[in-house]
Formats: sequence, C-alpha cells, structure tokens
Amino acid sequence: MNKALIDSFKHKGLRRNLINEIRNKKIANETVLTAMMEVPRHFFMDGAFLEKAYSDYAFPIGAGQTISQPTTVAIQTSLLELKEGDKVLEIGTGSGYQAAVLCQFNIKVYSIERQKELFHKTKKMLSKLACKADLFYGDGYKGLPQFAPFDKIIITCGAPYIPEDLIEQLKVNGKMVIPVGSGNIQKMQVITKNENGEITIKDHGEFSFVPMLSEKSR
Ligand code: SAH
Repeated sequence: MNKALIDSFKHKGLRRNLINEIRNKKIANETVLTAMMEVPRHFFMDGAFLEKAYSDYAFPIGAGQTISQPTTVAIQTSLLELKEGDKVLEIGTGSGYQAAVLCQFNIKVYSIERQKELFHKTKKMLSKLACKADLFYGDGYKGLPQFAPFDKIIITCGAPYIPEDLIEQLKVNGKMVIPVGSGNIQKMQVITKNENGEITIKDHGEFSFVPMLSEKSR
C-alpha cells in the first residue's frame, strides 16, 4: 500500500458521523466508540473510497476477503469487555482494522492471518501506525500455544464449530467472541470458561462472515 496516510478534517467528520450512527443503535459501549473514532478506517482499504470507508458496510480488501462492517467491529469489541492489561488473540487479521481498534486499549494484541499476501500487506500497514499488535502467519484453528493462555479471544471469520485448541488457550474466566455456523449465517457467541474447564455459551444475534478455513494458504 503506497498511498499517503492522511487523516484530514473531512475524514474525521465522516468518521464522527459513522460513529454517531453506530452509537444510535445502542449496541456498543462508549469506550469502544472512542477507540473506533481514533482509527482512520480508510487507511485499511485499497483505493480509499471515502464514502465506502465511512459507511456501515463490509468491503473487499483483496485475496477474496473483507474488512468487517463497522457495526460488527463495535459489537464484537464491546462483547470482549476489555480490561487494562488483557492479553488478546484475534483470529483473522485481514486488513488489520479490528487489530488497530484493539490496539487503542491498554492491552497486548496478537493476531493470526492464514493468507500470506494479506499477512505481509497488513504487517507493513500496521507498522506505519502506532499499532503494536504482534502479527502471525498461520492457522487460527491452532491458536498461539506459545503465548497462551489469553484473557480474550476474538474470531473475525465464520467458524463452522468452536475450535478446541482455542478453548484450551483461553484463561479461566476468559471470554471468547466467535461467530459460529457454516454457510452464510453465523450466530455470534460469547464463550466463558470456568475453573473446571467447562464452557458457557451465550448467543448475541446473527451475522454473516467470510468462512474460517483450515490450514495456511499461500
Ligand atoms: N479482522 C479483519 C476481518 C477480515 S475477514 C479486519 O478487520 O479486516 C476474516 C479474515 O480471516 C480473512 O482475512 C481470512 O483470510 C482470515 N481467516 C480465515 N480463516 C482463518 C484461519 N483459519 N486462521 C487465520 N485467519 C483466517
């Protein structure tokens, strides 16, 4: 991505309108909205179609993938209930937008992407911003055992089932936010793990994500 990273008054104004639109839906907490106000979404999209960056839609980011809809980012981030010092794992780095929103919190962010092309492009992009997420090229189904356990895990692709390895890498009383379902529609589930390793699942509505695929792709 060799475009200049300029965040003008116009960009900020458009972003404020989008954040207000999300605020009116009453699905996100204020801390999350403040974090989203800090991140110029147009930096994460090719071509920088302004009206697309600041309207509430998912958008193609190359390699057959999409940057999540802002409302979805707001909901998933709110459901994580982030606390200072949390260690958070994201599955599906994609454009890096969700990772950059997470970086606005005082937490440690790890993110995995299975597509090499996207991994390299996004790593370059995030290094230009003050986002200190640690990015990995790998298979999200396996998580990052070397950095586990995590306080929170967020999956930004549609998982056909809840990956066992990720449950294992979740701390006791930790939270995983995961869209579950094969096909076009997934249920947003919040999973918590108790002292005995048992999980509790709560549903938070229906969404549509690109699929979580196994193995790395080149
Ligand atoms: N969080 C991203 C959303 C990208 S879409 C953003 O803010 O832009 C979901 C991403 O998940 C895609 O980039 C896709 O390649 C990736 N993905 C799919 N299956 C995966 C897997 N098993 N491990 C890691 N990433 C995966």
